This record gives sequence, structure tokens and C-alpha cells, in this order.
Amino acid sequence: MTATITRLDEIVSALGPEDRRRFDRLFDFAVCEARVLPPPAMEAWIAKAFPYLAPTREGVLGAIGRQRIVHVMNRATGQATLFNAVRAQRPIEAKADTDLEREIEAARAKCSFCRPLEQTPANTFGRIGQAKTCANVAAYDGYHGLVIFEDHSPLRFRTDAFRPEEVADLLATSRAWADRAHAEDPAARYFFLMWNCLWKAGASILHGHAQMTVGRKFHYGKVERLRRDALGYHRQVGADYFADLVAIHESLGLAARWGGVAALAHLAPAKERELVLVADRFDSPDLAPAVWRALRAFAALDVKSYNMAVYMPPLGGPDPDWRGFPCLVLLVDRGDLSAKTADVGAMEFYASAVVSSDPFQVAAALKAQP
Ligand SMILES: [Zn+2]
Repeated sequence: MTATITRLDEIVSALGPEDRRRFDRLFDFAVCEARVLPPPAMEAWIAKAFPYLAPTREGVLGAIGRQRIVHVMNRATGQATLFNAVRAQRPIEAKADTDLEREIEAARAKCSFCRPLEQTPANTFGRIGQAKTCANVAAYDGYHGLVIFEDHSPLRFRTDAFRPEEVADLLATSRAWADRAHAEDPAARYFFLMWNCLWKAGASILHGHAQMTVGRKFHYGKVERLRRDALGYHRQVGADYFADLVAIHESLGLAARWGGVAALAHLAPAKERELVLVADRFDSPDLAPAVWRALRAFAALDVKSYNMAVYMPPLGGPDPDWRGFPCLVLLVDRGDLSAKTADVGAMEFYASAVVSSDPFQVAAALKAQP
């Protein structure tokens, strides 16, 4: 049997007693069936819209008529995701998007990031590596900068020219920028690195770039929330939250091990194909190659637009409040660039995420990386 998220009940039942105990203390799930009764006039449309569900028209109608839903809950953090088999079974067809490539090329002529010294502002402490960084012209926080990639095209990660050294350079440049901010203002300790790739992910400029901020007084809300939830989990069950998160994904077959970094196909993803990389620290030499592999796995899954975020303890030496908090890299697919609708709605903002992709299929792409 191929493992699929809609068979999570059977997969969890097959776990050994220790793995099962660990799973149950962090995760919960509910399985149900949605009954859908289409009128005969809809049948032809359904068979055309969901051709991958079954080879026969009766098969398609049967699959639509009874849809298996799995609702997964992380009991420590409250992150929850609804998976639906009808959506999840859509096949992946990696295809080039010539219109998108044309649009990216057309933006080159007027691209300010291709001329950063004339067309981008600097931070108070200058730039890292001559022209590699700039300040955000409309800042989110007191310190807000960008790493401008050498290549104009944000789709470079989908090409064979993309190298792990480029990711290492991004991480080192962003860290050097954050250290400069922290040196200028020692109260600025909360470094956050993010990468919005293309407009579906919130990028307003096409040219490949990452962004970083350094906050004061407390970490960004979601990072602080996770710190508190992990502490609460440890207090309640006596186990390390992050070690359990990794071990559970490993026991379910949802993880790959890349040197010192665990790569997880997240069981409670925020949206499509979410990956979580867990490293012991930001300057781990295994982190850059792991991020590179994760992006290559995204390319294999035909992802074009994505968000990446890095969670880590504050700058400036060990802080007892953050003891045991690792470095996490989160990556999520933001969907079809040609779709007019947003990929998130009220469900994602205020209830549980609704996800079409199957973490077991995502895990297969992670494991296929060399
Ligand atoms: Zn450019």
C-alpha cells in the first residue's frame, strides 16, 4: 500500500508502542467522510474536472460522492490542517511556464535590483559585500534589509545552474547584515530571515531577493508563540518538543536526514507542500546544503512561488529563555501563479489550513534528493 495522508489512521495504527506514544502526545487527528450528491447534469463536468480520480466515469463519481477528510492537529501549538483525498490525488506535472519566463525577462529593463547602487537605499551601517544588500524602501521594522541575488530571475532555483554555495552566501550575507545591525544597536536581537518568491508569495519585485529584519524587546509573534508552546509541551509531557516533532515525522516516513539537518514534510502544514528543516543552529555547515536540497525538491514538485522563513534564538550570546530552541527553516508553496484567487482564505487565517498536497508525496521528493 502506498502511504497517503488520507490513510493516516492505518499508518498510525501500524506504529510500534513507543512511536505511537510519542505521536499521541503531540498529534491528534480525526477522519470523516464528506458525502456529495451531484445531480445527473453535473456528471460530465465532474468526470472532466477530476480525470485523475479513477479511470472510469463511475469511479470518478464514486470518489466525488464519498470524500475522505483527515483533520490533523498539533496539540502543543494548535496548528491544524484539513486534507482531502479528492484534492490530494491531483498528479504533479512539472511544466515550464513560458509566459512567466517572458514576464520575468521583460522586467529586467526597468529592474532597480539589477542596479542596486543607484536604485536601492542603504542601511545606516552601509551595505554588505558592496551591492549585495540594501534597505527596504518602506521598512517593516527598525532594521529591515534585503539580500539582492546576483541572478535577476527568481526561478534560478529551478535550474541546474543553482548551487548550494549560493544559499551559503545568502545565509552568510544575511547574518553579517544582522550582526551589523545588532552591533549598532545591541537591543536589536531578534533576527528574522525570509524569502518571498514571486507575487503569489507577496514579493512586489520580481528580481530574486530575500529580506531580513532585526526586532527589539521581543521576537516576532509567531516565533515567540512557538517558543512558549515548546516550553509548555516540555513542562506538560517531559519531552523536548523539537526532538519529538522530528522523531514523529521519521517514524511516519515523512522525514529525510541531510547531515545534521532533519527535513520534514510537515504533517500539519500551513499550506501546500510545507517543509520544515530542523538544524541545531543557524551557522551549522549543513544548513545551506539542506536549504538547497529543499529548493531542488520544490522544483521537482513544480513549485514556482514560495515563502521561506528562518526561526532562531536571538542574537548576542545564549539566552536562557531560548535554551534548546533550534534553527528552523520553513518553506511553503504558494500555488499556481496564473490563478486569480488567493491560496488562503478565512479557513487559513482563522480556522485550520485546507491543503491539497499529500505530505507523503512531498516526503518522497525530499528522499529523492541526492
Ligand atoms: Zn533584476
